[in-house]
Amino acid sequence: MTPAAPLPDTEETRQALIDACLWMNERHLNQGTSGNISARIDSGILITPSGVPYEALTPEAMVTIPLSGLPEAGGPKPSSEWPFHQGLHQARPDMPVVLHAHPPYCSILAVQRRPIPACHYMIAAFGGADVPLADYALFGSPELCANMADIMSDRHGCLMANHGATVLGETVDKARWRLEELETLARTYLFSSIGGAPHILSDKDIAEVLVAFQTYGPRPVKQSEG
Ligand SMILES: [Zn+2]
Repeated sequence: MTPAAPLPDTEETRQALIDACLWMNERHLNQGTSGNISARIDSGILITPSGVPYEALTPEAMVTIPLSGLPEAGGPKPSSEWPFHQGLHQARPDMPVVLHAHPPYCSILAVQRRPIPACHYMIAAFGGADVPLADYALFGSPELCANMADIMSDRHGCLMANHGATVLGETVDKARWRLEELETLARTYLFSSIGGAPHILSDKDIAEVLVAFQTYGPRPVKQSEG
């Protein structure tokens, strides 16, 4: 994979992370302060702080942690999920943004421990023919980080058993777009399973969509549309 340039550590980038948090709660893709977001910057990783209501977030409140190793002792407290954000930034240098949430339909599938198969062509937005499910491990644990980094080596999103979902983005906008698409896929798969078995597209069908996406590319969501 080709590494992407880190995002500039500017007030604009920091505000984009805050806006993503406010947006996902407004869109019912998350609730409370369960979700968190991070962006790779030159000096490490910029991540939302632990336990601060999104409405109270300010650009200065974003926490910088290193790309590897522990956060600064005695410094501002990063999101409790910083280990998997750090692990995913290490595993996927091509994706500078990591967005985690507890979207309701994704969470239902995650509780049922059902990965999402190719029930709709938009599955290809996640890099392949499925959205995998990361095995359960305690939130914030190195085990959860390992479970996610492993299955997201070639996928841009995953469900997390009995927990929620995480997506990657080339930009903050693309991460937002993928989170909403993932929740839509989860809802589609869940409801299409009622009263019958959903038809699953073939690997050949998905390979065609992957090529089409390379050529045309899905249109990223503009901040103003959120
Ligand atoms: Zn969570």
